[in-house]
Amino acid sequence: MKKLLIATHNNHKVEEIKHLLSDLLFEVLSLSDIRNPPKTIEDRPTLEGNALKKAREAFHTTGMLTLADDTGLECYYLELQPGVFSARYAGENATYADNNKKLLSALKGVPARRRHARFRTVVAVAGPKIEKIFEGKVEGKILEYPQGTLGFGYDPLFVPAGHSRSFAEMALVGKNQLSHRSEALKKTITFLKTL
Ligand code: IMP
Repeated sequence: MKKLLIATHNNHKVEEIKHLLSDLLFEVLSLSDIRNPPKTIEDRPTLEGNALKKAREAFHTTGMLTLADDTGLECYYLELQPGVFSARYAGENATYADNNKKLLSALKGVPARRRHARFRTVVAVAGPKIEKIFEGKVEGKILEYPQGTLGFGYDPLFVPAGHSRSFAEMALVGKNQLSHRSEALKKTITFLKTL
């Protein structure tokens, strides 16, 4: 069976991605399965740049076909911030709770009609003579208080358009039907099937 490396240590992401890739004939590994994995510094100004950098470095270190994603929450009221800084919005080593708290204070007093946001994911695939990028987006809005305990990151604050429950109130199957990451991964899967 061919191997596919997911260039992340984030178990939530690995779980979501494995679920989506379950029909593919790949053995899926993550950086946690690799001895001396690369420690990519995510210093590019765009999601595309960071995703490609992570995929390239992991491919060059391991020789394995690699998939890497980078995701940002883009709030229109905040001119698409936190965007590429989503993981460290409240500072280096910020927790999900710290980032959510900072987002709520940045949007304090902002009415519901101006709280629109989107999640955007860029997936990069790097392998022998392969470099590809796929994008997925989901529009929605930011709540005034966290709702739900499932998922990760900004999930308790994000309600996808046309729904009343936050991502953190949806089971993984429900989130995967709607999510930015699943849209980007579905495009990626179509490509992986051609290999
Ligand atoms: P990453 O760089 O792709 O890991 O994503 C940056 C940050 O965006 C993460 O630290 C999370 O806070 C947030 N994030 C990424 N994907 C999701 C998601 O599916 N739901 C909620 N937050 C997410």
